[in-house]
Amino acid sequence: MANNDTIVALATATGSGAIAVIRLSGSEAIPIVNRVFKGKDLAMQASHTVHFGTIRDGDDMLDEVLVSLFIAPHSYTKEDVVEISTHNSKYIIERIIQLLIKQGGRAARPGEFTLRAFLNGRMDLSQAEAVADLIASTSAASHQVAMQQMRGGFSNELKSLREQLIQFASLVELELDFSEEDVEFANRDQLEALIVDIHAVIRKLIGSFEQGNVLKNGVPVVIAGKPNVGKSTLLNTLLNEERAIVSDIAGTTRDTIEDEINVGGVTFRFIDTAGIRDTQDLVEAKGVERTREKMRQARLIIYLADPQQDNLDEITDQISEIAQLGVPFVVVVNKTDLLHAEHRELLSKLDPLFISAKNNTGVEELKEALLRKVNLHHLDAGDVVVTNIRHVEALRKTENSLERVLEGIDGAVTSDFLAMDIRQALHHLGEITGSVSTDDLLENIFSKFCIGK
Ligand code: GDP
Repeated sequence: MANNDTIVALATATGSGAIAVIRLSGSEAIPIVNRVFKGKDLAMQASHTVHFGTIRDGDDMLDEVLVSLFIAPHSYTKEDVVEISTHNSKYIIERIIQLLIKQGGRAARPGEFTLRAFLNGRMDLSQAEAVADLIASTSAASHQVAMQQMRGGFSNELKSLREQLIQFASLVELELDFSEEDVEFANRDQLEALIVDIHAVIRKLIGSFEQGNVLKNGVPVVIAGKPNVGKSTLLNTLLNEERAIVSDIAGTTRDTIEDEINVGGVTFRFIDTAGIRDTQDLVEAKGVERTREKMRQARLIIYLADPQQDNLDEITDQISEIAQLGVPFVVVVNKTDLLHAEHRELLSKLDPLFISAKNNTGVEELKEALLRKVNLHHLDAGDVVVTNIRHVEALRKTENSLERVLEGIDGAVTSDFLAMDIRQALHHLGEITGSVSTDDLLENIFSKFCIGK
């Protein structure tokens, strides 16, 4: 991976904003911009300063711009970085980028700025991955975990574990040099205690993944119930309200929240909404089986009953069927606008929420119930939560290796076997932060970034 040329890319999204930022990174960043910038001599300016001027292609003035300077190593990539703020015209942006390339820049590949930040030691791999998560975060919760990871919470926790393990690994390996003399430099009791400690931390991190995943990707929810109980009405009520909230925020796009709502900072993602809307499908046996499969995949089920259609016994039967799936659920009685008082009292035995999806009553209480039901642990600012599947896989492999080390200590195996398993654990831990990495791995991670990140 060539790391010595100067890369150029648009850092902001294309669209209708007022300003666009074109970013350059590399040793030629300042000279390249200097050749097309009319204003102060950028080579003579201090880091972290902003300069007004124009960008010119020969006699052609392309735009009035502001140029920000970040001189190595005090920049995102630890290289010289120049950011040019232009008016957000597609034409202007293309002309300026072409001009910068003509002057010796190269169009950046996806994630290349962040890749350089990693390669230059500005951040480790898990922090670089968190940058992508941070940019993609759509809720307070996903923002918080990404921010925590980007600031190195996860890496710090792993780093000290790794360092302690490395120390023991070298002691055990030293024993190999004296294999004839049967010495033990690495105290087996201390080693065992350390491995037990590390194992506990790793387990905790693995355990946090379920919550981390939910915070990052949203809680998958299914609305279940017989045809015509009001599933799609409820879904529309929930989503329309969300859209009304979101469309009040200028410039937000609706696409990203197609089937999601945000409650108390947590995203709830409705799955199989097509199936809900297409209720005919559910009448067929095949459709029912498919729905059941979806319900099993959910982390939460909203079971919707319609007392106009079903009596108490039938509803009770349906509830016990859902309970067998082992997925948390809330019981909701819909169409309460049509419900008689005595009927309502009867249904109260089931301890349901009473709503009218059509009239939007009781829906706020339902949202609160959803939040309570997912039972997320309160996260403190310093809590480390694993959100990345790659990390959790590496942690599981680390866990396996650590268990082999423990077995090895118990079985008093020779130092060379012990050293091998400790090295293996270290290897997997290192995969997370990138202290052990391959070009393939890096390519895989950074190619998922957008250009300009
Ligand atoms: P689905 O088949 O479960 O998706 O049910 P729908 O959402 O299509 O609703 C079936 C019928 O019940 C429609 O005519 C809705 O207008 C009606 N409905 C839904 N919710 C309510 C409600 O709270 N009160 C009343 N009176 N009717 C409702």
